[in-house]
Amino acid sequence: MVVTRFAPSPTGYLHIGGLRTALFSYLWAKKNGGKFVLRIEDTDKARNSEAAAIGIVEAFKWLGLEHDGEITYQSQRDDIYKTYIDQLLDEGKAYKCYMSKEELDRLRESQMAKKERTRYEGKYRDFSGEIPEGAEFVIRIKSPESGEIIVKDGIKGDVVFNVKDILDDFIIARSDGSPTYNFVVAIDDALMGINEVIRGDDHLSNTPKQIVVYEALGFTIPMFYHVPMIHNSDGKKLSKRDGATDVMDYKKQGYTPQSLLNFLVRLGWSHGDQEIFSFEEMIELFDPKDINKSASIYNTEKLNWLSAHYIKNTSNAELSKLLEEYGLILSSHDKAEILLDEMKDRSTTLVAMKENIDEILKVPTEYDEKASKKAFKEGWSEVLNNFLTKLESAQELHLPNDYHKLMEEVVEEMEIGFGKIGMPLRVAMIGKMGGPGLDSIMAILGKAESIKRLKKCIGTQRG
Ligand code: GLU
Repeated sequence: MVVTRFAPSPTGYLHIGGLRTALFSYLWAKKNGGKFVLRIEDTDKARNSEAAAIGIVEAFKWLGLEHDGEITYQSQRDDIYKTYIDQLLDEGKAYKCYMSKEELDRLRESQMAKKERTRYEGKYRDFSGEIPEGAEFVIRIKSPESGEIIVKDGIKGDVVFNVKDILDDFIIARSDGSPTYNFVVAIDDALMGINEVIRGDDHLSNTPKQIVVYEALGFTIPMFYHVPMIHNSDGKKLSKRDGATDVMDYKKQGYTPQSLLNFLVRLGWSHGDQEIFSFEEMIELFDPKDINKSASIYNTEKLNWLSAHYIKNTSNAELSKLLEEYGLILSSHDKAEILLDEMKDRSTTLVAMKENIDEILKVPTEYDEKASKKAFKEGWSEVLNNFLTKLESAQELHLPNDYHKLMEEVVEEMEIGFGKIGMPLRVAMIGKMGGPGLDSIMAILGKAESIKRLKKCIGTQRG
């Protein structure tokens, strides 16, 4: 069974780069009928925040990415790590190192002076001399001293590391006894049965160390997939400046979970030239072997395009539910269907959709100056008055077309162009140019409200 995981360090918000590897891991597990587990790597007491851990869970909930089983918190597993430290010490695969900080600093300096890679040289590896009295110690693992470590990577192929270039006997427990990052990651992945690790390739250089731990403890090494980073359009690592990177900011900006997930799945993965993937299709088609070997480029236009696509193709009932989260309650509006039909084709995000809807539903407090200049030209009040008369005496007004007919009558009777009524009427209704068809706007507002806005305009506007 395929078991994948997402293992964020809760030191801040959930970054979209992290979410993308979480999504890949989720899809791969689900495609194989396997499990996707969540492990919070909260061992860095100084940098962790509980709020960040809660934020990660909240983001998962919003996106509908469910993890299997309970969440594992590394901070609760010290006893487990300690057992393995003791085991390695007993087996002579790890040892206590009493080197003081000063001595280590001196070693580093001399290596730097010789332009050598800074590394621990194994002074206490097979030490038989006198141990400095009362000295503190750290615990180091015995790494291989020569040869190669090969990371079998499903994206990059076999990545060969020369031990001499990358390893030394690295610390697995600090002087206060706390275990270190690469040690606990390997143990947790092994104990949690993770057999496929999908993570950012910023972790590739950690993998040889983790392999040393796997081997020392006799654990099976998982398959790795190190996913290339997401870059901005300048080819640099994605940062806050490039737009939202906190997953929950996407929600605030009005993107639906579907559009964000679709956007993310295509960042670095492709299936032919297909762009739109339902969640089910993502699960069916995702395969980490199709992840690109080079960095992917973050493209806001693409996200907006997807977002517009999903809004357009979401049912009105669902949209109205989604909009409620943005403070727009349409359930009691009798023309909600017309409103949503009109607006779903012209809104990129839910926030934009709410704004577009507000622009129609809110009574305009002032009329746009430029629009007024164009609209209120000679004869406009006569045109609007004629239309008002028709509106007031009309019986059955429901659909946009009912309003359209009234406008047509005015145009024909007065022998004027459509613009002569369209422009002043539009400003009377919404205070400016733009927006959906006037007939739809009036159908949405209804007869009484349309009359009110029309009268206000005729009464207050000069020209
Ligand atoms: N905790 C690590 C991070 O948030 C990820 C560890 C891993 O995926 O192996 O960067």
